[in-house]
Amino acid sequence: MLKIDTEACIGCGLCEEACTFAAIHLEDGVAVVGDNCTLCGACVDVCEVGALSIEREEGVATADLASWSGVWVYAEFRRGRLAPVGLELLGAGRRLADKRGVELAAVLLGSGAEAAGGLAAAAAELIAHGADRVYVVDNPALAHFSDDVYGNVLADLIRRHKPEIVLAGATAVGRSFIPRVATIMAAGLTADCTELDIREEDGALLQTRPAFGGNIMATIVCPHTRPQMATVRPMVMKPLPRDEGRQGAVVKVDPAPELLASRTEVLESVTAALDQINLAEADIVVAGGRGLENAEGFALIRRLADVMGGAVAASRAAVDSGWIPYPHQVGQTGKTVAPKVYVACGISGAIQHLVGMQSAETIIAINRDPEAPIFNVATYGIVGDVFEVVPKLIERLQKR
Ligand code: FAD
Repeated sequence: MLKIDTEACIGCGLCEEACTFAAIHLEDGVAVVGDNCTLCGACVDVCEVGALSIEREEGVATADLASWSGVWVYAEFRRGRLAPVGLELLGAGRRLADKRGVELAAVLLGSGAEAAGGLAAAAAELIAHGADRVYVVDNPALAHFSDDVYGNVLADLIRRHKPEIVLAGATAVGRSFIPRVATIMAAGLTADCTELDIREEDGALLQTRPAFGGNIMATIVCPHTRPQMATVRPMVMKPLPRDEGRQGAVVKVDPAPELLASRTEVLESVTAALDQINLAEADIVVAGGRGLENAEGFALIRRLADVMGGAVAASRAAVDSGWIPYPHQVGQTGKTVAPKVYVACGISGAIQHLVGMQSAETIIAINRDPEAPIFNVATYGIVGDVFEVVPKLIERLQKR
């Protein structure tokens, strides 16, 4: 919490000016803090008389930061399969762990270790993709995801093993329970990172993510608390190639019964039809934007996607216009894709769209405006009208 020494405060108002959350104001010549304080520390830094300080919960303002060591990846495992983002995070985690000279571990929670395609096979897969150690918690209480049980179990493991960095995918599951883990640990958490690195001076985790509607990239550091926690969107990081010969340890963990008590009872788990659009895993994506003019314009894009054997995506402008449903949206508030080929038709290339597709291997942009920002990231640019260029492309491809 933010502590104000009212004896020392001289009511200069510097803290009020420095607070971007309007959480601190002067009352009778003394600073008073409101509920919206985020403990960012900006007021503490500007106070010239040392009247402000941040007091962290016991066990959080860890004087012993050095006793936290290792990089962990939460490897999401659902319906008998590892989420690809876990392998992508191991690729990123390996680089971070090597820079820090520490071990890289993965954490697998679920039920059914020995079943074909179960947790045991998943643990081997994680080792082949870079993990030195895999903690496997296999318990029927973990068969269905529930954020309280998963949160309790992961937080307990963190408390006992003290990793300095914990990474997870910004999937529906990760977004649901990783904030709970961060809250239990009273640690910082940076959501939706697009880049991770280690600060050379002190080994802190540099967590970069788009901020202010994607207009700036902010790099966030959690210098006072451990673990340093970040979620990363699927398809942003690259997995390491599978190495069959890698060796690693598999550690089976039996959770204490009190960690497994949930306030939620799962009656049934249903796969939503929306999940079936396999945009994130498609090798070829053909995307349309406002330049397609209407829903009929998307019929053209669908034909191009069909002849190329690809999936159809869209900009938010096209989705907001009701031309195509939201699950097709690519970008900051949609899906992140990293296909081999991304064809952007009538899309301007706003930063919020680019963050969702700029890791594509080859980007082909078709736009009638030669100044459109999409051409800055395009491998091949075609300046022209989509309604002229795309039918010609389809015709050519059909002939091949
Ligand atoms: P426009 O910007 O209007 O561009 C249309 C392009 O089509 C123009 O470049 C034009 O030259 C070209 N064109 C027009 N007619 C033709 C033609 N006949 N032939 C060829 N070219 C033609 N956007 C996303 O896409 N995904 C997101 O997840 C997302 N999240 C956002 C989150 C926030 C917080 C905010 C503020 C915005 C977000 N946006 C997102 C919106 C983003 O800022 C842009 O408004 C949007 O991407 C624009 O879509 P567009 O390129 O289809 O449309």
